[in-house]
Amino acid sequence: MQRRQVAAFAAVAGCTLLSNTRVGAAGNGPARSETLQVAGSRLDLQFDDGFSPALQALALLWVQRAASAVAGYLGRFPLPQVEVLVQAAGGAGVQRGTAFPEPVPYVRIRLGRDSTAQHFHDDWILVHEMLHLAVPQVPRAQNWLHEGIATYAEGVARVKSGWIPALQLWGEFHRGMPKGQPQPGDRGLDFTPSWGRTYWGGAQFCLQADVLILQRSGLRLGLRHALQGVLAAGGNYAVAWPVTRILAAADAAVGQTTLVDLHQQLRASSQPMDLESLWQQLGVAPTPRAATGIELRDDAPASAVRRAITA
Ligand SMILES: [Zn+2]
Repeated sequence: MQRRQVAAFAAVAGCTLLSNTRVGAAGNGPARSETLQVAGSRLDLQFDDGFSPALQALALLWVQRAASAVAGYLGRFPLPQVEVLVQAAGGAGVQRGTAFPEPVPYVRIRLGRDSTAQHFHDDWILVHEMLHLAVPQVPRAQNWLHEGIATYAEGVARVKSGWIPALQLWGEFHRGMPKGQPQPGDRGLDFTPSWGRTYWGGAQFCLQADVLILQRSGLRLGLRHALQGVLAAGGNYAVAWPVTRILAAADAAVGQTTLVDLHQQLRASSQPMDLESLWQQLGVAPTPRAATGIELRDDAPASAVRRAITA
């Protein structure tokens, strides 16, 4: 889903394909399907016609890296087996992604035929879509929880895996979180299905939850541990759960009631989030000197919480 533009960063090496991966050999024509094993899960990739063998090889590394980032964040890949359909598009770059729950959960990606390693490095969409696989289907009116988790955890997972630097993540949060503020006529997260409230209002919910869970656990546990609890309880995109059940399962995993309480507080509230004060606490300070628009300060009162989010 289109959520934002991401700044280009230098490519980072370090992704290794597993031995059972088959890469299409030039001269044989492009392979149409590939299988990856990531953290014990099986990913079946189906490629459209029109991709060169070289581009398919790059795409395999990218899928491997995205799946590893998600598995690193959640302690496992969300499902034991999933299909990734890679459709060809004109131009370059990862252009669109969608996660579908039926008939079995799968991810569909539109990929430009002229994409380069840099385009794969700059992509956030695939990690975002894979994170959807970790959350049960919810009623449409509460899609903010799905999109919020995918929007928030995508960047955190990529920092944790070494894909992007923490400075980039916090710069993106600093620019993005204001888009989740209530606008005139807002009736709270559960009753305001606008783009801003769905993606960034949901991400605000996750950021607040992560900070609170970390503070209440002495920095031992965070939102990712809560989300791991949902997976452990059998919650993923193959099933449909009420939001209250997802949040209760997540809370149980960290021995708190943070998520259920926060939902009660925000579900019908049009109160804006006090972002300025949170940035000050976390040590995310605006500066015109940096390309990211921010600098990270370790002398802020809750800078240890900020560091724990991506540690
Ligand atoms: Zn999404």
